[in-house]
Amino acid sequence: MKRFNVAVLPGDGIGPEIVGEALKVMKAVGKKFSAEFVATEALVGGASIDAYGKPLTDEVLKIALGADAVLLGAVGGPKWEGLDYSIRPERALLALRKELGLFANLRPARIYDELIDASTLKPEVIKGVDLLVVRELTGGLYFGTPKGVETLPDGTERGVNTMVYTTPEIERIAKVGFEVARKRRKKLCSVDKANVLETTELWRKVVIKVGKDYPDVELSHMYVDNCAMQLIRNPGQFDVIVTENTFGDILSDEASMLTGSIGMLPSASIGSDKRRAMYEPIHGSAPDIAGKGIANPIATILSAAMMLKYSFDMNEASDLIERAVEKVLARGLRTADIMQPGKTKASCSEMGAAVLKELEG
Ligand code: NAD
Repeated sequence: MKRFNVAVLPGDGIGPEIVGEALKVMKAVGKKFSAEFVATEALVGGASIDAYGKPLTDEVLKIALGADAVLLGAVGGPKWEGLDYSIRPERALLALRKELGLFANLRPARIYDELIDASTLKPEVIKGVDLLVVRELTGGLYFGTPKGVETLPDGTERGVNTMVYTTPEIERIAKVGFEVARKRRKKLCSVDKANVLETTELWRKVVIKVGKDYPDVELSHMYVDNCAMQLIRNPGQFDVIVTENTFGDILSDEASMLTGSIGMLPSASIGSDKRRAMYEPIHGSAPDIAGKGIANPIATILSAAMMLKYSFDMNEASDLIERAVEKVLARGLRTADIMQPGKTKASCSEMGAAVLKELEG
């Protein structure tokens, strides 16, 4: 029996509802695959502010650092919006990412045939799309120095940000891209702006060098402006996209909107150490529907599936969860956010129970 310690941080709003369903699914899958997931639940975000006066306590950080992986719901809500930025719920996420050394963000965007009409794009363009954006999370324009705004002698102002990457930073994110591609369809597209930005010229050079260790993965390169266009024109051409922080921020949002259903999209943030990883839905705490029992738990359930694949090497178990979700959708069950005419409306717990039933059946 394999045993994995999971730090479970449900957070705020719909967090506890959706994480509860994901945990049930993990437990069921564990039974099937002789694995035990030992969950240590703790407060984070607004819930932690209410209890301890700060969004992330040292004790919770210690739980996260000691775990094999972290499952997070979502944080934030109107109750804490007036607080100083330094103690807002969202600070907990930044602190967790930093302390865990999470430098790669993985965001899959997959179109389910059953939900093809939820997209704003034509069905023939998005049918079968199943791509994943690997975004570098700790470098580039968002962190590079010098940065800031200065007042010049003539009274005008000058703003500066610096896009900076070192060879080791590019190597480690490129490796993640290749490794992830290996677990999928073995196609990696590295996105840069090497025709204009020297930093990304280096990016391309290093990615090509790392690629020599992955002869089984087909590597291609694309300029970011073209990629933004290709994602809309022909998203089916992509398997895994790897790119720097700012480009990845924009492209991963664009890619997720292809699906049109925010309640369905999982994500993972990973570091160099296999035991450093955090899995969470891409959506927020949805305060408008919190406590109503109508949230879609699928993004969190699929985040748990990603945990099995990327942290625990349980590919088969992960695929089983994904197939169970597909089957439930095919049976016509829908939470309110993805409801379509003629389908059956399900609450959060009914959706979770239906996935569980498919898994066990
Ligand atoms: P949101 O993602 O919480 O909600 C946007 C819309 O999508 C809402 O109408 C919501 O009801 C709906 N929605 C989101 N997830 C859903 C689900 N699983 N099922 C059904 N409907 C769902 O974004 P927001 O409203 O901009 O932010 C709300 C709060 O969440 C804010 O405090 C924000 O800072 C925080 N937030 C947290 C995270 C995170 O924890 N990673 C991410 C984004 C926003």
